[in-house]
Amino acid sequence: PAVSYDQLLRSAAERNPERHAIIYHNLRLTYREVVAMVNSIANGLHALGLQKGDRLCLLLTNRPEYIITFIAAASLGVVISPINPAYKEREITYQLENSEAQAILIQEELAPLFSRVLAQHTFPELKHILITGSSAPENLPGALPFATLLRQSSPRYQEHAVVGSEDLLALPYSSGTTGLPKGAMLTHGNLSINNLQFITVLGATANDKALLFLPFYHIYGVMLTGSFLACGGTQVMMERFDLQQSLELSEKHQITYYFAVPPIILALAHSSLNLEKLNSVKYIFSGAAPLPIEPARIVQSKIKGTVVQGYGMTETSPLTHSQPYDPELIRLGSVGFPIHNTLQKLVEIDDETREVAQGENGELLVKGPQVMTGYWRAPEETERVLKDGWFHTGDIGHLDEDGYLYIVDRKKEMIKYKGFGIAPAEIETTLLEHPAIVDAAVIGIPDPETGEQVKGFIVVRPGASVTREEIISFVNGRLAGYKHIHVLEIIDAIPKTTSGKILRRTLKEREQTS
Ligand code: ATP
Ligand code: MG
Repeated sequence: PAVSYDQLLRSAAERNPERHAIIYHNLRLTYREVVAMVNSIANGLHALGLQKGDRLCLLLTNRPEYIITFIAAASLGVVISPINPAYKEREITYQLENSEAQAILIQEELAPLFSRVLAQHTFPELKHILITGSSAPENLPGALPFATLLRQSSPRYQEHAVVGSEDLLALPYSSGTTGLPKGAMLTHGNLSINNLQFITVLGATANDKALLFLPFYHIYGVMLTGSFLACGGTQVMMERFDLQQSLELSEKHQITYYFAVPPIILALAHSSLNLEKLNSVKYIFSGAAPLPIEPARIVQSKIKGTVVQGYGMTETSPLTHSQPYDPELIRLGSVGFPIHNTLQKLVEIDDETREVAQGENGELLVKGPQVMTGYWRAPEETERVLKDGWFHTGDIGHLDEDGYLYIVDRKKEMIKYKGFGIAPAEIETTLLEHPAIVDAAVIGIPDPETGEQVKGFIVVRPGASVTREEIISFVNGRLAGYKHIHVLEIIDAIPKTTSGKILRRTLKEREQTS
C-alpha cells in the first residue's frame, strides 16, 4: 500500500533519529523517542481492542500526547476525530455521538466537564476512556492514564494492520461558522500528500523550527504538527496563543516559521511590543480567514521575515492555495496560486457549468489529491459539494491578470443590497485601515426596501477618540456607493471562532434579539 501517514514520521526519524522533534515546556523529545512512544501507544491501543476503522476522539489542547496518539492511531488504521477542547457539554456530545467513537483521549483538566457529558448522555459505542497524566481522576474512575499505556506497552514496531492511501485517517469537523460542524472524511493519502504539498511550498527542512500555538484540533493545526514531523524539523508547542510568550519562545528557540490566523496578525500589528524577538523568523504564515491588507502591511514593516497567506478548508486537508514565498512576488490581499497537483476553477454562482471571465467573481472549485472522500454519514451533503472530483468551496473569488486568486467572501455571507452582492470582508478590510480601529465585522441586516442594509461593528483602540460619523465617512469615501455602511456600532470585541473566523451568525442573532 502506498503512503501511510505514520510513514512520514518514521522516515524522518530514520534520517535524523537524534534531532529534536518536539519541544514542550522543559520537555525535549528526539525523533527516536517520539517513534518509540508512537509504537508503545499503538501497541497499547491494539491490546485494548481498537481496530482499523474504529474512531478515537481527541479532546485536548496542544501537547505531545496529541500528536503521538494521532500517529499511533494512524499506524493501526484507527480514525482520529479531534474535538475542540473549548467545547461545552452539548458540543462534545454532538461530535462524540455523530462520530460514533469507540474511544476518547481527554486531558486531565477536562475530566470534570467530561464526567458531566457522561452523566447526561449514553454513548453505546464508547468503550475506552483514556486520560492524560498518570492516574485516573476521581470523577472518571475507569479512565486509563496515558502514562500507564505508555509504560505497559512495547516500544517496538509491530504491524497490526495493513494501512494505505485509501484508508480513512481522520474525521475532523469543520468550524461550524455557517451551520452545524460537518465531519470531513480524510484518508491517509489526503493528509500525507497535503503535508508534502505544504512542506514544498514552505520550503521547510529538518533545520527549521516552527512555533505551534494554533489549536491542533483544527485542520490547520493538524497540518502544522504533522508537516513539521514529516519534514524532520522541530516544533515548539504552546497550549494557546499568548503574544508575549510567543515572542520569548521565538527568540529562545530561534524559530523560523511562525504560524498565525488573522486575529493574531491584528494583535501583532497593534502591539506596542518590540518585534525584534522575531528576527530569526523567515515567514509568518496566515490562513483560515481573510487577512486584511493594512494589518498585514504593518506587521510586514515591523519584521525582517515575510508575511505570507495560504487558503484552505477542512474538506481539503486543508491547504489548496498559497502565496508565492518570494517577497517580490507577493500581492497583498491575494491567496496566491493553487499548490502542486491542485486545480482550480471559478464558475458562475448560479450556473456552475459556466466558468467566469478573468477578473469576474465566481464560486471557487478545487480538485486535487487532498480533497476529502465525503462528509461522514451525509451522502446528500457530499453530493452537493463534490462533483466529478471538484469540491465546491462555497467561497467567492476572482483572478487578476496574472492569475493571482483573491477570495472575496463566502457565498453564504454575501450581503444582498438592491440586487448587488457585497462582500463583508472587503468593508472590514477598509474599516481596519482607520488607525483608531483595532477590529471590525460587517453583516447584512434585513431591510424591506433594499433587501439588506450594511451594518458595521468596530472595536476602537483604547484611548482613541473618534465618532461614528467620522468612521462612516472615512469608509464610505473609499468604497463605491452600493457598498456604503448604513449603520455602525462600537462594541468591546468581535465574536470569533478559535480558528480566527468572524462569527457573523452570532452578530446577526444579536441583532434579532436586540
Ligand atoms: P463551516 O463549513 O462549518 O461553516 P468553516 O468553513 O469556517 O465552517 P473551516 O473548514 O475551518 O470551517 O474553514 C474553511 C473556510 O475558511 C473557507 O471555506 C474560507 O471561507 C475560509 N478561509 C480559509 N482561509 C482563508 C483565507 N486565506 N482567506 C479567506 N478565507 C479563508
Ligand atoms: Mg466550510
